[in-house]
Amino acid sequence: MSDTDGRTRRKRDRGARTPAPASPPPGRKPFPHRDLLGIEGLAAEEITFLLDTAEGYAGSARPAAGPRPLTGLTQINLFFEASTRTLMSFEIAGKRLGMDTVSFAVAASSIKKGETLLDTAQTLNAMRPDVLVVRHAHSGAVSLLAEKVHCAVINAGDGRHEHPTQALLDALTIRRRKGRLAGLTVAICGDITHSRVARSNIHLLAAMGARIRVVAPPTLLPRDCDRLGVEVHHHMRDGLADCDVVMMLRLQKERMQGAFVPSEREFYHFYGLTPDKLARARRDVLVMHPGPMNRGVEIATAVADDLAHSAIEEQVEMGVAVRMACLDVLTRHLRPDMAA
Ligand code: ASP
Repeated sequence: MSDTDGRTRRKRDRGARTPAPASPPPGRKPFPHRDLLGIEGLAAEEITFLLDTAEGYAGSARPAAGPRPLTGLTQINLFFEASTRTLMSFEIAGKRLGMDTVSFAVAASSIKKGETLLDTAQTLNAMRPDVLVVRHAHSGAVSLLAEKVHCAVINAGDGRHEHPTQALLDALTIRRRKGRLAGLTVAICGDITHSRVARSNIHLLAAMGARIRVVAPPTLLPRDCDRLGVEVHHHMRDGLADCDVVMMLRLQKERMQGAFVPSEREFYHFYGLTPDKLARARRDVLVMHPGPMNRGVEIATAVADDLAHSAIEEQVEMGVAVRMACLDVLTRHLRPDMAA
């Protein structure tokens, strides 16, 4: 397990990668990891601890009123890939907690002038941030950076690998609407192969005891699907039957080389979420999408905007609460108020 005290060690265990015991031994911290690099390997109680902490921030995160427990700590957001929701909500989360937040515009930085990731890490170390939030187009790049810096690192999406805070905000949204995660049937539909959102959600939902279906054409299913412990469907009518939650995914064209679907029109015909396909699900089904949405490709406007089922806006709202929780939990060892 990674520790929160070995801040000067350069090489550290990747705590969130090793399977955690079923319940923590007495005296163990509820979230003993220095970083949040992925959901894979986190124990159910660690996920629950993050969700419970986020629940405390949900709905009450008023910027002017609340206490600012992270005042004096510095957060650097380093985004090598485009982002709207994730970057903005990390900024808002840090500011609401009192942090000094800086967002790094990679397009305008020395990285575009040929600086390596490791040189960037050294530069960042010299600035002594307390939390580094990183998004990168390459799977594994965030873990690599985390090995070289002295502060807590949060993965804000690395290639097709993981997007842990997205899975946490999805889980918080589901838990608030359905009251639980265990025993629910969740269908994740669309471009599973290239989606870090799908991968993180699969790990989280499996750890929390949900039943997971993936619904996609064979070309958009990863080779290691069997290993992930999911039910595989190629038709929406079977995959959506009686499910409690439907998560739609965008076609990740930026990660595709060549054609994975004959055309967007055909994809929409077979896999786009329309009211008639949704009718196969339970009457109280929850519809989710991590954004950005492509209306008329993976989801119909009539479904996306139907507030009786759509939780898409609530997902964005929960994103701020979840990111506040992650910043809070990963900096507790630095704060005298939390020293126990
Ligand atoms: N915003 C999510 C991500 O960064 C989903 C997407 O881009 O389709 O992975």
